Amino acid sequence: MVVYSSPQKQDVAILDQEDKSADWKRYLAALNSMLKSRLFTHRPFFLAHAMTFGCNSRCKTCTYWKNISRMKEDMKTEEVFQMLDEAYDAGMRGYYMFGGEPLIRQDIAKITDYAKNKGFITVMNTNGSLLEQKAAELKNLDFAFVSLDYYNDYDDVIRGRPNTFGEVIRGIYELKKIGRTKVALVTTISSLNWNSMRRMAELASDMGVGISFNSVEQSMDFGQTTTETTPNFDVGLDSEKLKEFYRTLLELKREGFPLLETEEVLEDFVNNKPWKCEFSKMFLYVTPNKQVYNCDYTYAYDLKKGSFEQYFKSDGFWSYVKSSESCNKCVRTCVRGYSYTYGLFPRQLWGLAGQARFLFNKPEESCSVPDSPFSNKSGFRGLKPRIVRH
Ligand code: SF4
Ligand code: SF4
Repeated sequence: MVVYSSPQKQDVAILDQEDKSADWKRYLAALNSMLKSRLFTHRPFFLAHAMTFGCNSRCKTCTYWKNISRMKEDMKTEEVFQMLDEAYDAGMRGYYMFGGEPLIRQDIAKITDYAKNKGFITVMNTNGSLLEQKAAELKNLDFAFVSLDYYNDYDDVIRGRPNTFGEVIRGIYELKKIGRTKVALVTTISSLNWNSMRRMAELASDMGVGISFNSVEQSMDFGQTTTETTPNFDVGLDSEKLKEFYRTLLELKREGFPLLETEEVLEDFVNNKPWKCEFSKMFLYVTPNKQVYNCDYTYAYDLKKGSFEQYFKSDGFWSYVKSSESCNKCVRTCVRGYSYTYGLFPRQLWGLAGQARFLFNKPEESCSVPDSPFSNKSGFRGLKPRIVRH
């Protein structure tokens, strides 16, 4: 007996199929742009756009929010579209949105739609505070990396925003219900949340999402765009704590928690192994007012007066690329991970393939956060994440 589904359902299935094949084309184009960069051009293929000078949080590990008066300098919608066109023509195929907080932009859905339709892989780093409200508009967002620094509402203290823990959990749940975006937590470890790594890994596991860990290092000033005193000297990890940080992550990884870091990256941090940084050939960092900065936040180029093409041909770009290779300053696991991927390290690629399951899980399998505690919007005080044994 043949069972016919309703025409409506068939239409939906055909549309889903078309979406999926268009998605694969975009992923293959991104892979192709990476290989082209790796083998021939050595130019960045990911546009990392700080979308706004504004932020609605007041994190204790960051001073970026002090730039809020500069929001008037943010590029307008049409200017962002134009920049995306230019980036696409220059061979870029990834669009990484961050801020400040990208979701405070009223045109965030229009920009995400435009980028995806243009052919970019769309990735966003968000503090998650507005995710619940905006999830439905983000159907064209491929990956969301959502900041969460603690496993209960002490997170509000670190992030300097009331009810942020509840907002983030509900936002992720909402995004996952829609089922189009792959979601992972990003946890920044400082002295304020030292010793929370295991609990955060358990929370990610409970929620069916991946997790990536950052550290705040005392001697570095990353993420700052003002000359005001960095908080990192007060809350950053010293070298002994950093070693312990990597050892703990390696332990969690080996226990099977859904860390996005690969074992190779973590082992090499633990063993203090030197590495070649490829970041400058992968990502181009553009500020909200269309200026290019290097990874250490030194000024590089004015994209309002020139073009991507001209910058990539400039001596400034090539000397930046050369000096980056032996830099080794970054303590961030993601930068070493990107570099190993770009370098086509077999163990790294194998590790990435294995952990893709954390991101490419089916939506119906991934909403394991129970409705009950999170449907109460009054807050999360006292919430104890369930412990998962692996
Ligand atoms: S870390 Fe992000 S969310 Fe927190 S204040 Fe800085 S820009 Fe805002
Ligand atoms: S290791 Fe050095 S060159 Fe590479 S991203 Fe970090 S600061 Fe930049």
